[in-house]
Amino acid sequence: MSGNMAKVAGVDVSTDHFIGGRRVASKNKFSNISPIDGSLLCEVSAGGKAEVDQAVAAARKAFPAWAALGPKGRLPYLKKFAEGIKARAAELAAVETMDNGSLLLGNVHRVVPRAAQNIEFFADWALTLEGHSIDSPEVVNHVRYDPAGVAALITPWNAPLMLTTWKVGPALAAGNAVVVKPPEWAPLTCSLMADIAHAAGLPDGVLNVVQGIGEEAGDALVNHPDVDRISFTGSTDTAKIIGQAAARSITPMSAELGGKSPFIVCADADLDAAAQTVAAQYMNAGQVCLAGTRVMVEKSIEPGFLEKVRTAASHMVVGDPRDKDTRVGPLIHKEHFERVAGFVDRAKAAGAVPLWGGNRANFGELYFEPTLFTHVSPELEIAQREVFGPVLTWQTFTDDDEVVAMANNTDYGLAGTLFSRNEKRAMSIADKVTAGTLWVNCFFVRDLAAPFGGARNSGIGREGGTWSFDFYTDIKNISVRKGSFA
Ligand code: NAD
Repeated sequence: MSGNMAKVAGVDVSTDHFIGGRRVASKNKFSNISPIDGSLLCEVSAGGKAEVDQAVAAARKAFPAWAALGPKGRLPYLKKFAEGIKARAAELAAVETMDNGSLLLGNVHRVVPRAAQNIEFFADWALTLEGHSIDSPEVVNHVRYDPAGVAALITPWNAPLMLTTWKVGPALAAGNAVVVKPPEWAPLTCSLMADIAHAAGLPDGVLNVVQGIGEEAGDALVNHPDVDRISFTGSTDTAKIIGQAAARSITPMSAELGGKSPFIVCADADLDAAAQTVAAQYMNAGQVCLAGTRVMVEKSIEPGFLEKVRTAASHMVVGDPRDKDTRVGPLIHKEHFERVAGFVDRAKAAGAVPLWGGNRANFGELYFEPTLFTHVSPELEIAQREVFGPVLTWQTFTDDDEVVAMANNTDYGLAGTLFSRNEKRAMSIADKVTAGTLWVNCFFVRDLAAPFGGARNSGIGREGGTWSFDFYTDIKNISVRKGSFA
């Protein structure tokens, strides 16, 4: 390894870009601070138009040979890449925790294995992309999945490694070359990912990483004329800006955005399991796009269920995310802390009442108490907008039509969770809730073959399984007249 390095959690991490198979530094830097204790982890190269131009050119150059390998030819590289992630699992988990404050145990057991699976799974699935034929009276339609070209991949700080590999896996498996723009508040595991891909022998230029600020490096990337796909995960507001760039160049864009998901508890539910799962919405300090932050409880069980949730929530220990007993770590950044605190202050001023929490936690500057608001009328900001912190609202309902209307009463449609033992009732409510994913008697279970994405302001398009390949390929029909060949 060469260039500018930092030691984070005992791991050597490059703080430069990775372009065309080598490390490239920028004069401009941005500071990378750990949310755990506010310590400066490193200064990272801040890319702009010049670095993006270089990276897109490197990807374009690498694309034809990578595409020509076909899914079978790419498989060994991608398997080795996934093995490399597994081999460095402990380092990746430790660096992610220092960088974004997510729980170390969650990173070890869930995030890093999933990152490896993201690469492996789509590499295997791509073998089914050889195409198929549709017979019609006059012609045979040969369906082909051509790689799209250069894919721009932009991800947020709450789960950088998991969300980036979720894009890198299918994009590379489909035969594209990629340029990744990692989140500036947690840029380091994407840098390690580039080292791992390089060590796995991925040809130079197939995977590039340009570090930098969203409004500079990100903006240059989405406005680059030689980009064929834009895959974005982040906030709805940023998607609106990126969408304008995509519209100008008619570049297909996928967007996985924020949520304000309902968590519905029916009187006939397993209330202990439901209460545990409500409390789990505080994990990672609520910085989880899929969190069911609007709890809706059937009125007849309210008092008893509230006590169960109170008990379960009391076990959500706030603390250092490296500690095995911690369930709620820090918020990512001072700016984000102030945003979360602002939502809470305005909710209090508007008449919502915190049953617990509502203040900075007695642990450190960026730690916020798990909070539950009651007296939440549906039009209040706290019931409508994504907080992205450990803040839940509590509402009650008396019949199913009422809870469906309540669940659908936001601009979002990312996910929902529902607890009921009555299958007919559960499926009827689930059918009527607008959401990309609806969990019944479970939460956060994700099969990579299943579709994933959001309705309304929560996203554009679906990824996962075949839907990822629909996005990362140009689907072509070669229509051949029957009997026309000599
Ligand atoms: P964000 O939109 O501020 O930033 C996301 C990424 O976009 C970052 O890499 C940033 O640098 C980049 N960016 C910012 N401005 C840009 C611009 N003008 N052009 C190009 N790129 C730009 O979001 P965030 O605060 O990092 O992440 C939190 C949000 O992400 C929440 O809304 C959360 O719900 C959402 N999220 C969604 C999912 C999902 O799968 N649906 C998953 C995780 C997070």
